[in-house]
Amino acid sequence: MIIETFITTPFQQNTRVLACEETRRAVCIDPGDSANTIAEFINANNLDLQAITLTHAHLDHIGGVSDLHKIFPHAEIILHKDDEDLYYNLPAQPLFMGIPRDELKALGLEYETPPTLTRNWQDGEIYAVGNLQFKILHCPGHAPGHIILAEENLRKVFSGDCLFAGSIGRTDLPGGDYEQLINSITDKILPLGDDVTVYSGHGDDTTIGHEKATNPFLTGVYQITQGRFA
Ligand SMILES: [Zn+2]
Ligand SMILES: [Zn+2]
Repeated sequence: MIIETFITTPFQQNTRVLACEETRRAVCIDPGDSANTIAEFINANNLDLQAITLTHAHLDHIGGVSDLHKIFPHAEIILHKDDEDLYYNLPAQPLFMGIPRDELKALGLEYETPPTLTRNWQDGEIYAVGNLQFKILHCPGHAPGHIILAEENLRKVFSGDCLFAGSIGRTDLPGGDYEQLINSITDKILPLGDDVTVYSGHGDDTTIGHEKATNPFLTGVYQITQGRFA
């Protein structure tokens, strides 16, 4: 599998292009911005972008969808239905996050309404990209329509903002729910196996085994402060 990471937006989001080496079929996971740089990589490597595959609809993950879709208008845009409201409200998202309106332009956070979605992810569907097979798992908690993409044969999971090296996604944004996020991680991500490499929406790559052993949200260290025992 070809995996190219582009760090985008003031939030240092990991936008990725994934591709099948044999067929050159490709997807872009979570284009935060930098559409021209992403397109240059796709074209220079002779890849065929079949879809923009979104883990969830926070602005740092979808801000580049419009520009990338203008360059590759045949690419599908796929998102879980429970994040559609967030997606179509992209222009207002920075305001929900408390960023003053007069600072949006300087931060590069002035957005148009993104293009119409092609379809919605279904929990449990198998999504093929050439010879790659991604299992789509609905993992709400950080955002209501968050999904992860697991390539189980190649032992890799693209976990968006559910699980990070040493941390987990924030749950204080609209639609977030701490208990639900912990359940998503415990029931959907950890069972993929300790040897699975985790490619997160922010920060470094890790493995499920390493996070199970050391991540304070999974080892129990942080449970008390989150009121889980109250
Ligand atoms: Zn997010
Ligand atoms: Zn993010």
